[in-house]
Amino acid sequence: MHENLKDRFLDISQKIQAACHKAQRSEKDVQLIAVSKLQSIEVIKEAYLLGINHFGENYAQELDKKVLETPKDIIWHFIGPIQSNKVKLIARHADWIHSLEREKIAKKLNDALETEGRKIQVLIQVNIDQEESKSGINSNHVIDFANNIDAKYTNLILKGLMFMPKINQSKKDKIDSMKKITALQSTFINEFPACNVLSLGTSNDFEESILAGSTMIRIGESLLGRRS
Ligand SMILES: *Cc1c(COP(=O)(O)O)cnc(C)c1O
Repeated sequence: MHENLKDRFLDISQKIQAACHKAQRSEKDVQLIAVSKLQSIEVIKEAYLLGINHFGENYAQELDKKVLETPKDIIWHFIGPIQSNKVKLIARHADWIHSLEREKIAKKLNDALETEGRKIQVLIQVNIDQEESKSGINSNHVIDFANNIDAKYTNLILKGLMFMPKINQSKKDKIDSMKKITALQSTFINEFPACNVLSLGTSNDFEESILAGSTMIRIGESLLGRRS
């Protein structure tokens, strides 16, 4: 890993470019999100000055604090589990939520957004490998869940799907998961043509994710450095 943020950013940008070229996709269709959880305000400002303006946070209180101390035109993505007592903060600050997986939370968010006079773009988090320990809804329930959200909660603008990689997966299993994701996404887009966002890929697998059709990659430590 390079010593400084600028070199890491250049390195990752080149890898994104190469992966897009290989996948015959436009770089404009892949949005880099710098995952800034547990990173300082200084690191966020430094990344911003390099031209990064999409950041991802996992904790509502941290988001609340950071939004107030950083440039106003940053686009904030909430990517962590959503606790119901934190819904108000998320509704106030986030531009995107990647981790919607419970109807109860959708309702609370929608109500909080009504109060704030805002709307938010949402992705449904899917547990593709059906790991019991992991967040996300079962792939068989995605369409029903999405129909419900779409019909009932007008402050939630449904945009697509989000996936977390399995940790310590073999290369073969990873390829299998990516295939399942691509298949699920094409079924999903048939039902919801406007929901073509696919949030997939972290530091370890963003190049494969771009080949699998990812449109948002979430990169933390390999871009911003070790989390404290
Ligand atoms: C922390 C986190 C990331 C980034 O992980 P890195 O390994 O630091 O790249 C991506 N997505 C989610 C949901 C995360 O919580």
